[in-house]
Amino acid sequence: NRKDSHPLIMIIFGASGDLTKRKLMPALYALHKEGRIEGDYKIVGVSRTEYSDESYQKYIREELNHFVKEQEQDTKIMDDFATHLYYFPMEMGENAAPFYEKLKVKLEEMVGDAPLDNLLFYLATPPSLYSTIPINLQKSGLNLPNSRIIVEKPFGYDLESAQKLNEIYNSVFDEHQVYRIDHFLGKETAQNILALRFANGIFEPLWNRNYIDYVEITAVENLGIENRGGFYDGTGALRDMVQNHLIQLVALTAMEPPATFNADSFRNEVVKVYDSLVPLTKEDLDEHIVRGQYLENGEKKGYRQEKGVPEKSRTETYIAMKIGIGNWRWSGVPFYIRTGKQMPTKVTEIVVHFKPTPHQMFQCAGGNCPTANKLILRIQPNEGTVLKFGMKVPGPGFDIKQVEMDFTYDRLGGAPVGDAYSRLIEDCILGDQTLFTRSDAVEASWNFFDPVLKYWEENPKASLFGYPAGTWGPLESEEMMKEHGASWTNPCKN
Ligand code: NAP
Repeated sequence: NRKDSHPLIMIIFGASGDLTKRKLMPALYALHKEGRIEGDYKIVGVSRTEYSDESYQKYIREELNHFVKEQEQDTKIMDDFATHLYYFPMEMGENAAPFYEKLKVKLEEMVGDAPLDNLLFYLATPPSLYSTIPINLQKSGLNLPNSRIIVEKPFGYDLESAQKLNEIYNSVFDEHQVYRIDHFLGKETAQNILALRFANGIFEPLWNRNYIDYVEITAVENLGIENRGGFYDGTGALRDMVQNHLIQLVALTAMEPPATFNADSFRNEVVKVYDSLVPLTKEDLDEHIVRGQYLENGEKKGYRQEKGVPEKSRTETYIAMKIGIGNWRWSGVPFYIRTGKQMPTKVTEIVVHFKPTPHQMFQCAGGNCPTANKLILRIQPNEGTVLKFGMKVPGPGFDIKQVEMDFTYDRLGGAPVGDAYSRLIEDCILGDQTLFTRSDAVEASWNFFDPVLKYWEENPKASLFGYPAGTWGPLESEEMMKEHGASWTNPCKN
């Protein structure tokens, strides 16, 4: 971990935007409140909207009242946090080089006699600016050896654009300076998959094709696209959720134990999972991917009726697919993954289905025979872990009923589930890249999913199923699992 001689200056590009007010500033406030950013740090907001330092401080101070949880709000500390904020209005796109020169002058003025050194850039702009900003930072000499850059998702639109972006970043920065953020990895519950697997002796011996039948990963939400039609229609569920968040969860579930918990060892194992993904065949593309779009249902609008969405849009708001991992541990074990908007509930969870007992000698209560154990890793909400297993119902006979052993976070002293952005920004300040995506991982992931995008592009008539808003998606996704004798675990509405 780094020990910096000069106080941090964090420069947020996209400072007037949604992400900054909803996530970044509350996360930075949390770090400030807990004294986790050392020294007299400064945060410089950059975007086109005209603010002065003072009016930007006022704007963010007000937004904190909306986006910091009430129990975390402390007026005095929020006021103090706001004094660390500065603002520089500028255009960042093409031909904006002179503005970066002026930004550099502002930064130099802020550090006085000290050299510019400890800079952290955060790119919270539209993705179209992700390539021009580093080039301009280089032109103005702001890509200092000690600087770091955090880039939001999406990192690329497909394999080719991700490769191009990597080329640009690698020509401006060293890989150890580039932090591709995926906030799923900042979640306590995602990190706890590693703890469950690698801090315990009892699961790992069973964690393979001999004992695991199949794995389900679900990340769904009960909202639609919420006035973000323009953005979402050019993106879709595969790019928005699967290529980054869901595949990260696959990696955490499937990876080999790293020898040590550091950035290189951990990220090497992630890439090995991506490299082992069994390439999709024509049959997979036809039969093992279900693409859906929500339809009007009662008061709920259909996707094509949402503002900013073309009438004939074929963008998917739901996708379910079967993924294979071609290695010694996982050969033959399907990973079923799905994500969707306008589902009955909001939930992200992994369900590991163990193989059934080879022989069942007991009766089953209610005729429902729980011969197979399930381990549910709940990422959000109701964060925790549940192991389902069979026990005898008291009384005569020998009836078996499925019961649960569960872990919830109140067992860890009621510790709140920490905010993913605080954790990740702090890691970046400390120079720890473990929970950020490395360039080869981004490309390996795109390499796997690119054929799906190409297939849809080249086959405009490829199936796209409608599903009524507020339901669990196209029935075809159940059909897809039937060949394995499986079906989706639909968590209760909550
Ligand atoms: P947003 O609300 O549209 O904000 C975009 C920001 O970029 C604004 O501050 C805008 O400010 C600035 N900007 C746009 N064009 C500019 C230009 N030519 N020159 C200078 N500034 C410019 O977007 P967002 O929702 O915050 O998302 C930002 C990025 O984070 C996106 O890439 C998104 O994919 C990613 N992301 C967002 C979320 C989220 O929850 N919002 C979650 C994950 C990832 P001005 O108009 O004032 O210039």
